[in-house]
Amino acid sequence: MAALILFMKKTLVLLLLLVCTAAFAQKHKTENVILVTFDGYRWQDLFTGADKTLINDIKQVKDSAKTKGQYWAETPQERRTRLMPFFWGTIAKQGILIGNRHLESKMSLTNLYKFSFPGYNEIFTGHKDIRINSNDYGDNPNKNIFDFLASLKEFEHKLVAIANWDAFPKIINAHRNLVPVYVNFKCSPNGASCNGETYDSWQTNIPAANHWAMVDTITYHFAKEYIHRNHPRFAFIGFDETDHYAHEGQYDAYLATANMLDNYMNDLWNMIQSDPQYKDKTTLIITCDHGRGHAGKKYWHHHGPLVRDAHQVWMAVMGPDTPAKGELSKGKHYHTNQIASTIAKFFGLEYRTDHSVGKAIDVVMQ
Ligand SMILES: [Zn+2]
Repeated sequence: MAALILFMKKTLVLLLLLVCTAAFAQKHKTENVILVTFDGYRWQDLFTGADKTLINDIKQVKDSAKTKGQYWAETPQERRTRLMPFFWGTIAKQGILIGNRHLESKMSLTNLYKFSFPGYNEIFTGHKDIRINSNDYGDNPNKNIFDFLASLKEFEHKLVAIANWDAFPKIINAHRNLVPVYVNFKCSPNGASCNGETYDSWQTNIPAANHWAMVDTITYHFAKEYIHRNHPRFAFIGFDETDHYAHEGQYDAYLATANMLDNYMNDLWNMIQSDPQYKDKTTLIITCDHGRGHAGKKYWHHHGPLVRDAHQVWMAVMGPDTPAKGELSKGKHYHTNQIASTIAKFFGLEYRTDHSVGKAIDVVMQ
């Protein structure tokens, strides 16, 4: 009898262990994360579509009839779906969108500078740093999610950043962690960590529409090809032209860029879900490095410490561990310094480094 009880006890323990392991495994289906940023893209345009004042301003929209034909509709729901059909047709149905302040869903920067280098520093390091006060800042002294993952054997040769701004090797500090960072047609740091691909041959075919940033189209197609060939487990893709056209006051080009990036996200998701190494094992996170001013006059053109509400940002998440809650309302106020920990947690890891970091955003995982 005692032997039977012991056997039953052992069986019960084994069953419990199996259930726990299954529950744990189920919690972490994500094996890969792709982080994408749309530089300075406003939550107002993401959640309510084209703005009425701006789309009717002939100084900011060259062909108002054409632009309205493409992006205008009476309700914010219709307008945003016209502008970003993948976000509202797919992510809103299968994933989560945070940051619609009309519904009291809030996400903010913690840094007070509200421009790019401090914003990306916060995204990657999980930590605001008052010293980082310039877009020309040198190698970032703060360790980031790339350093953290690069220290783990399972991520060896499985990290990459592809973006359109030459500050990224410094923001990520590629000299320190040797993560390949492809920007402006080159890989940095030059050396063994880069696979030898460059954009050099592509550059000559592209008109110099934007002399200080790469064309987002090249960034996207290079990133897609790289990811497809090399299967990184954590990839960052940084787009820039939303910010560029906003600064220029070209609302039509800004909208067209947002629409194009939405299309690229659709294409990227199709690639992910048709690749056996990524399918149902990959989480897509899309966010931005800062907001910008509200519509009206030229406020929306800019961002920075003196621009009211430019700290207001957003995030979209979709993947095997993300519940289909769609657009969030109310709830916690989230912050950009939580993104690095969120990425680590999708991998089943706790992001720890030599500075404090924001906590993972639990609402985006089951
Ligand atoms: Zn920016």
